[in-house]
Amino acid sequence: MRPSWEYLFAVIASPVDYFFADGYQAIDVWCAPDHIRAAPGGTGAAKCAGNYAGSLAANAEALARGCHEVLWLDAREHRWVEELGAMNFFCVTRDRTGGPVLATPRLSGTILAGNTRGSLIELASALGIPTVQRPISLEELTAGDGRVTEAFTCGTAASVVPIGAVTTDSGRSVIADGRPGEVTTRLRDELAAIQYGDRADRFGWMHTVSVP
Ligand SMILES: *Cc1c(COP(=O)(O)O)cnc(C)c1O
Repeated sequence: MRPSWEYLFAVIASPVDYFFADGYQAIDVWCAPDHIRAAPGGTGAAKCAGNYAGSLAANAEALARGCHEVLWLDAREHRWVEELGAMNFFCVTRDRTGGPVLATPRLSGTILAGNTRGSLIELASALGIPTVQRPISLEELTAGDGRVTEAFTCGTAASVVPIGAVTTDSGRSVIADGRPGEVTTRLRDELAAIQYGDRADRFGWMHTVSVP
């Protein structure tokens, strides 16, 4: 085995509709007890085709359980939330005054630094919503103690997708009321408005790729 001497790097660009055919609704996710997506020292942080092969068995399990996607935990302790499907993960908690705070796992080498993740952190900050990058445990997410008020996942193809419930071996935990949250929906709408040119792009994200 050795790397190739030469590569063809091909980029296919295409308009997409919403990734989930049902439109904008909260998805159910499956947290597999014995699968991992990425391990320390591996290629999990890269947009590498090989990463997807190892995720397909867990994905089939998710579908068999009536879930849409897989919630991935860390490889070492199987305790800390890393990603969701091929997307990044966020949740919303409240500060002492009741204001929303976004939380997302810190980039650790096993998490892909998604473009959408970066955009949402910037966008939220511009809307006055701070983001904390910190460890988020499965336990925190499924505690049902009201501290996590929203959870969502994000990526280029899927945009922002609310997470309604997490199913594990021990059952199904609904997040808050199981419906798309206020902060989630606002971030999704603001991002879409910039992408569609309905809102001025203050961030320098938009580029003209062809002139009709
Ligand atoms: C593509 C991808 C993401 C999201 O990246 P974007 O740049 O926002 O599309 C997150 N995690 C994984 C594993 C991915 O493959």
